[in-house]
Amino acid sequence: MFIIFGTRGREVHEKSGQFNCPKCCSQQNTVTDEKQQQYTQIKVAKYFTLFFIPIFSYETLGRYIKCDHCHSEYNEKVLEYVPPTFAEQLASYVEQELKTGTPISMLINKLKAQGLDQDQSTKAVDYIVANNIVTCHQCNMDFLKGVEKCSLCGQRISQ
Ligand SMILES: [Zn+2]
Ligand SMILES: [Zn+2]
Repeated sequence: MFIIFGTRGREVHEKSGQFNCPKCCSQQNTVTDEKQQQYTQIKVAKYFTLFFIPIFSYETLGRYIKCDHCHSEYNEKVLEYVPPTFAEQLASYVEQELKTGTPISMLINKLKAQGLDQDQSTKAVDYIVANNIVTCHQCNMDFLKGVEKCSLCGQRISQ
């Protein structure tokens, strides 16, 4: 009788848990979604085999993290990734909308339509606008200072 032994690389599911998948986070709706994804940590190891059956692992070749949701694969360091907070995401969304000429009152309505209440919406906008308001006197609409043209009537807004 002869014994066949050898080695072979094998992927083992080591553990799973919750993490902030960079890809999934970037695809979530900026204002309302805030949730973590399930991950699987996979260890790639070399196994000693006997009759082609893995007996024990003797060398870890590497580890990677796989998102169960989008199937992206990452380095282990991804578990330390912290996405921008809700407040940070909201502030940058509000700033971008205002700078591109969305009237203040319309933006507040837009935020409310996305699930924020009146108070949260007003505060988020006030935080960026403060006293930097310009008005289109034709439409009676307020904009962030710096917006040069009214997005409703196309008139120039005096700063
Ligand atoms: Zn993902
Ligand atoms: Zn106007």
